[in-house]
Amino acid sequence: MFQIIIFGPPGVGKGTQAESISKKLNLRHISTGEILRKAVSDETELGLKAKEIMDRGNLVPDEIMNGIVKETLANIDGNGFILDGFPRTLNQAIALTEIFKNLNFNDVKVITLTADDEEITQRLLKRGRSDDTRDTILNRLKVYYNSTSPVKEYYEKLGINIDINGVGEADKINEMILNKLI
Ligand code: ADP
Repeated sequence: MFQIIIFGPPGVGKGTQAESISKKLNLRHISTGEILRKAVSDETELGLKAKEIMDRGNLVPDEIMNGIVKETLANIDGNGFILDGFPRTLNQAIALTEIFKNLNFNDVKVITLTADDEEITQRLLKRGRSDDTRDTILNRLKVYYNSTSPVKEYYEKLGINIDINGVGEADKINEMILNKLI
């Protein structure tokens, strides 16, 4: 069973790569960003709470996100999953380790996509999602460096992180990721 986390800064291509890999390996693609955007468009209680936070480029509180992921992973079957957009804080990473332990998921691999700030900012500006304005992008990068990047060290220490250069042709990057997984 594939147990994959795809990690990296906003706009590095996690969503694109996760989508393609999940199709090729027949995995469940769990995108916390997508789960939240659906909640916003469905105007659920979660969505109403999350909208403003996301529009500013801030993080939805850990307790909420940890609960969503715990419930989603408890229902995984088949070939496995690729987790995209979570964990985004050390607290989330520690909670996830506990979730994995309880579910007996003990073959987890982390794929970290890398790219420099300039590349990322340009890509996000091009993408033009509602949370892709310049101010929000700058804040998301700040949040990434302050709160999210320590997660990479956490997985490096656990010895399960694999770095992949996220700059280049999407198909080539996809191939490099698949080579590390199978
Ligand atoms: P990107 O593609 O830029 O990495 P995502 O689609 O993963 O962005 O997430 C969009 C927004 O949803 C984030 O900026 C954040 O506000 C919220 N979000 C998604 N995942 C999480 C998470 N694990 N913890 C907190 N907030 C999250």
